[in-house]
Amino acid sequence: MILPESQIRRFFRHIIMPEISGQGQKKLLESWVEVCGASIKEIMPLLYYLTAVGIGKISCNLINDFGLEKLANNLKDINPDVVVVNSSSQDTEATGNETFFKTSDGYGVKIIMGDRDFISERMQLQQEADSAQVSVIAAAIGPWQGLLHVSRIQESCDIDFMNLDDLIIARQKCLSSEGMVLSYCFMGALVSAEVVKICLKIGKTPNKPLFYDLLSMTFSREGNGDFNVCEDSKHIELLAKKLSDAKVLIVGVGGLGSPVAFALTSIGVGNIGLIDGDRVELTNLNRQILHSTSRIGMPKVESARQFLEELNPSVDIVTYYANLTKENAMDLINDYDVIVAGLDNLPSRYLLNDACFFAGKPLIEAGVLRFNGMGRTIVPKKGPCYRCIFPDMPSSGNIPSCLESGILGSVPGVMGFMQAVETVKIIGGIGKLLINQLLLFEALDMEFRVPSFRKDPRCPLCGKKPTITALQEYETICEQG
Ligand SMILES: [Zn+2]
Repeated sequence: MILPESQIRRFFRHIIMPEISGQGQKKLLESWVEVCGASIKEIMPLLYYLTAVGIGKISCNLINDFGLEKLANNLKDINPDVVVVNSSSQDTEATGNETFFKTSDGYGVKIIMGDRDFISERMQLQQEADSAQVSVIAAAIGPWQGLLHVSRIQESCDIDFMNLDDLIIARQKCLSSEGMVLSYCFMGALVSAEVVKICLKIGKTPNKPLFYDLLSMTFSREGNGDFNVCEDSKHIELLAKKLSDAKVLIVGVGGLGSPVAFALTSIGVGNIGLIDGDRVELTNLNRQILHSTSRIGMPKVESARQFLEELNPSVDIVTYYANLTKENAMDLINDYDVIVAGLDNLPSRYLLNDACFFAGKPLIEAGVLRFNGMGRTIVPKKGPCYRCIFPDMPSSGNIPSCLESGILGSVPGVMGFMQAVETVKIIGGIGKLLINQLLLFEALDMEFRVPSFRKDPRCPLCGKKPTITALQEYETICEQG
């Protein structure tokens, strides 16, 4: 057997994909990364996803390593086979922790993540060290914005280092601690996907760096000159107060709900409701970062509450250990300002779409499959609903069982953090929402597309002559996850 039984179950959703398989997962568990950052605050989401997807050896090289020991214990509880070491005291010019990595047969990746000054300094050192033996990921972060550059070792062993002039410069009036945290979350999940691709030699890595702006949901590989999204500076100043007053309901605390709750708790959304009728299973742990090995069997909402209260004790977490049903949906939704869907089954999607429409509540939607994600924001009367694209629920015989589909753990991370960003924008009244657009993410190509779509006047729910005027019967086919 390639992997022990427990790892096969833990990484089941990876292993069933031919791009990864048991062989690939074994390779990931033998691979190592060195993460260079300023403090654990910035690299925490990245470390959770590196651990969840099963990168076996993680070395942390931090300017300030306060809290790393405790974080390493939490990570060990997600996957006991992942080793996290602290290499912070080492000379920053070292390109890796020699004693730690010498025995490793697997592939190595160096990640440099931080603000512009940090990246400039470390990339300079990296270039001087001329270490062609390692792929380098540079992740430059600004509030709401980021720039991801991957120097992947090709057969020639040449590394195309990033041009330091390409780095984003955070505009003064855009400064926002919330925007910074959300960018670290989003970037952390993106980087973890790139690490998997590099270690397994799968997918493509475009030469040009990827620039993103989360306020406008714009993605580009053509530089960042055209991004002018800071017209909201007044609103951004008021954001913290609005967030602490806000009430957000997260439906499903699995692959998507975990990153949503992680990000919203980190930035201090005051009241977070969690609903999920499932218990934590080993097969969840390749992607559901709120849960852990020691909490297997516990209701997911309780496991999530324990994680989130440790992350930020000032947030009020309310849990509902139940599935969303036709009977409880309206009462639950009416108590909250924004609803976030973390579902992977169609009946609940239709139920939540219809219930939010009748309650007049904004719904942030996303779905993930294999290496791809899709997301949108549904605001009743302002844009299309779920049924505008998919008017009727397919009959159960036509739906592939969601329990059998593979998911790279990083993908729900990227999409869930995107949902958290949309939630914050709705609460703050800032930025441009994905109301008449879909966000499509393809991890293998590291590509984002944002096609437009419109309200369908013939929609059975929100169209001119609706045929659905109350909640219907929604057949349950498979579980939330
Ligand atoms: Zn509609």
